[in-house]
Amino acid sequence: MPKVLNNGYVELIESFGHDQAVIRNARRCWRSESKGESSDRNLIRHLITAGHKSPFEATVFTFDVKAPLFVARQWFRHRIASYNEESLRYCIALRDYYIPDGLTGEQLDQWKKHHESCFDFYDELVHNQGLKKEQARSVLPIGIYTKFYWTVNGSSLMNFLHLRLDKAAQFEIREYARVILELVKEKAPMCFEEFEREVINKRA
Ligand SMILES: Cc1cc2nc3c(=O)[nH]c(=O)nc-3n(C[C@H](O)[C@H](O)[C@H](O)COP(=O)(O)OP(=O)(O)OC[C@H]3O[C@@H](n4cnc5c(N)ncnc54)[C@H](O)[C@@H]3O)c2cc1C
Repeated sequence: MPKVLNNGYVELIESFGHDQAVIRNARRCWRSESKGESSDRNLIRHLITAGHKSPFEATVFTFDVKAPLFVARQWFRHRIASYNEESLRYCIALRDYYIPDGLTGEQLDQWKKHHESCFDFYDELVHNQGLKKEQARSVLPIGIYTKFYWTVNGSSLMNFLHLRLDKAAQFEIREYARVILELVKEKAPMCFEEFEREVINKRA
């Protein structure tokens, strides 16, 4: 399972369609059929550069993701997708939080101390004072890890990667996007290699 940040991960658990579904759907427009790898790759490149996006909706991916809450919050802004997230109304929060690389010494100690004391207070509220989990979670920081499934079609995934691989995006979500691009290149190499070449590598 590809690890991301100190305790996160993103795993591609299911997918269908891939290059052949995109080629099939696109070729319906021209009443044609697959004409071999080179011609199909040219077609995919054309779809990407012309903004003819809908054929990429024929391929769909489901990821299992573990990410800090603040990353998930940015991620969930991508509306053309489906999400199911572990609920802190129904589940006890796990003592698991983001620690950025590079924290050392006193700063690292303070970071951990702060998070540990938030979890101590949460546990006290839930286990000893009988407060509902849905209320007690308010005392937890936004760096705690959450888990969710993300189902997204190829077109919307390209939009996500375009936005979240950009240097304007926050480092932490870029780390997930970077791993995701590699995972989908294995499943749909023509689509995502051409996307990387024509969109990601060509922008300033
Ligand atoms: C670097 C960066 C900084 C950001 N900063 C902020 C911020 O400070 N505050 C903030 O609130 N958000 C911020 N965002 C979130 C951003 O505004 C988008 O909500 C997010 O990137 C999702 O993009 P999207 O709408 O293209 O994706 P999706 O929601 O997946 O939508 C995909 C596409 O569908 C179409 N679409 C979907 N819904 C609608 C709709 N209701 N109306 C019209 N077209 C629609 C659009 O063409 C859209 O591009 C930031 C994003 C980035 C990448």
